[in-house]
Amino acid sequence: MTDKPVKVRIAPSPTGDPHVGTAYIALFNYAFARKMNGKFILRIEDTDQARSTQASEDAIIRSLRWLGLDWDEGPDVGGPSGPYKQSQRKQIYFEYAMKLVESGHAYPCFCTAERLEDLRRKQRLLKQKPMYDGKCRNIPKAEAASRMASGEPYVIRLAVPREGDSVVQDSLRGPVRFNNAEIDDQVLLKSDGFPTYHLANVVDDHLMGVTHVIRAEEWINSLPKHYLLYEAFGWEPPQFIHMPLLRNKDKSKISKRKNPVNIEYYRSIGILPQALLNFLGLMGYSMPDGREVFSLDEFVADFSFDRVSLGGPVFDVDKLMWLNGTYIRTLDDGQLLDLLQSEVFNTKRLAPIVPLLKERMRTLGDFVDGASFYFAHQVELPIAEVMRATKQRDPKETARYLKQFLKSLDNLPEFTNDALEAHMRTFCEESGLKTREFFMVVRLAITGRRASPPLVQSMTILGRAACAQRLRAAVETLNAYRPQ
Ligand code: GLU
Repeated sequence: MTDKPVKVRIAPSPTGDPHVGTAYIALFNYAFARKMNGKFILRIEDTDQARSTQASEDAIIRSLRWLGLDWDEGPDVGGPSGPYKQSQRKQIYFEYAMKLVESGHAYPCFCTAERLEDLRRKQRLLKQKPMYDGKCRNIPKAEAASRMASGEPYVIRLAVPREGDSVVQDSLRGPVRFNNAEIDDQVLLKSDGFPTYHLANVVDDHLMGVTHVIRAEEWINSLPKHYLLYEAFGWEPPQFIHMPLLRNKDKSKISKRKNPVNIEYYRSIGILPQALLNFLGLMGYSMPDGREVFSLDEFVADFSFDRVSLGGPVFDVDKLMWLNGTYIRTLDDGQLLDLLQSEVFNTKRLAPIVPLLKERMRTLGDFVDGASFYFAHQVELPIAEVMRATKQRDPKETARYLKQFLKSLDNLPEFTNDALEAHMRTFCEESGLKTREFFMVVRLAITGRRASPPLVQSMTILGRAACAQRLRAAVETLNAYRPQ
């Protein structure tokens, strides 16, 4: 047990929409930090240069703030251990990687991509675990140094002990034993000079004084490598607490294939931040008196890791809806009116819809019905209309192509009008579908009606997550439908 003041962090990678899993882990870090009068850090792990974006970083910060979480140190608030963005700390990682090379805990590896690919292929054929074979591990230090100095490309690898076991501690699980021979000589520094997750994460946790690493269970397999790194540097490791993964209803790991996972989606359908936090607080956790409705302050006041259970918590959207209704009813009418104005009837949301509905309005009131599907949490699929549009095709067939379309949306880099329109047309061509039929079926799934404002624009207003959710619901309805 450490008696240093508690310092925790979340370390999201800004590579996509802000994920509910990030909010869940942030909440538990926040609660522990506040309960222990400690500090909470936000660190942006943007070492994956190809996938990290500023837009994603901004959205993560915006969503966590919307939820009402705040942090003591971070890229937007500064702090004593900055910078808090890994891309701005490249030199630090380089220096620490070189320290390990000097002490013999790491070594430069000059193997080419072709050799590594060849090695992997052979290992696959022999049904062996793909691992680096250590070819460069025994290059004499002086020779390695001169090859590095001559400009030959290299990566730095951790020299993992070949024998024995590594015993790592997880505070929720106790000791976990790993066989060292199963651990790869992990790359620490890539040939472009950027660190890998493992090196940057350990160096930063140490330099930032992190005492407890509270993160999702999916990182537990990295723990032996992290322990070995702490050992190699001669540093005391923090305590590790791996929280149970959020799951879909079928118990698989939560994924956008089965559930919306974008925090901003939940905001857009009118979930209150307090309700979402309360819901996330119920994931794998129970209050001492078993109550299910509690505020953030109450959660903090009663917080203890003893009450985390490791059974996979299910992210059950129906339960979230119930909880959200409960919160809505605790608001007084004035507060609810304010919220409707700031979250639903605000200029930012209405402005893009106005020109689309104008053509169809006779009275101002017509706007309300015409625009309702933009705000609804879900729409009902008019199945008779689908049957008509598809000329009574087997609904399972229709479900099959909608599902394919849904999947194909993941590969669309930008969800803009032009990109989406072109994508839908190509999808029709490639699947041999008539555009007329396809657009009608998608329209029915997205808007719940035959006649609607322009489809593509409506879809981009709704956003990718909401469209995916409606298409998924339509696929389910079609699969369950038995024509008479
Ligand atoms: N960058 C990792 C992530 O995206 C951080 C994992 C950790 O907390 O160590 O979740």
